Amino acid sequence: MIDLDGVVWLAGEAIDGVRAAIGELRARGVRVVFATNNSAPTLSELLARMERAEIPASAEDLITSAQAAASMVAPGERVLALADGGAREALTERGAALVEVPPADVVLVGWTHDFTFERLAVAAGAVRAGARLIGTNEDPTHPTPEGLLPGAGALLAAVVTAAGREAQVAGKPHEAMIELIRRRHPEASLVVGDRPSTDGLLARALGLPFALVLSGVTGPEDPVDPPADKVTGDLLELVRSLG
Ligand SMILES: [Mg+2]
Repeated sequence: MIDLDGVVWLAGEAIDGVRAAIGELRARGVRVVFATNNSAPTLSELLARMERAEIPASAEDLITSAQAAASMVAPGERVLALADGGAREALTERGAALVEVPPADVVLVGWTHDFTFERLAVAAGAVRAGARLIGTNEDPTHPTPEGLLPGAGALLAAVVTAAGREAQVAGKPHEAMIELIRRRHPEASLVVGDRPSTDGLLARALGLPFALVLSGVTGPEDPVDPPADKVTGDLLELVRSLG
């Protein structure tokens, strides 16, 4: 169960050695599944990025926080989504009705470039009027080759503060994502990620070992909580250390 951002790529640019690492795992007969908290890309955009990184994959190999968040919405519910295409696609697939203005049953916040004062005001108002507040994930940052950008958690915090309500969160390490992984991949045996607070806690919740790679948001001097069962520089080093 391999995380994408900070493990496979940084802002869509493949990290060195990742294609070889996944090739070696598959050559050993290991099934590789990718679990991401990034709700912004659609499944076809994610698959196009995988293709550019020369990592063959199909939609069945991907689990996203967008899908986890959509599982918390009932078909037919009106959802005001402050989120990009991946979240919108998952909500539509679920049978939710996307609305741009209240009334709404749910306000769903995911990572998006299109985050303005006006949209924040509309979303917070809908929550104050009674809509449930769901966040795709609460990652504070998003790793890129140029450094850390604000993550969906930073946007969600703005809505939480403005609305004066807590959010239910869908992605790693929360219940909706855990349930989705348990249901689709009960055979999972190892969680690989770059962020202990999401990937590490997910591993713990699934009762699986956690391998931390230092190619993303966590540096060699950073505290690691929960502790990792293995720490390597990147995915290729991890795969080769597994023998
Ligand atoms: Mg990551």
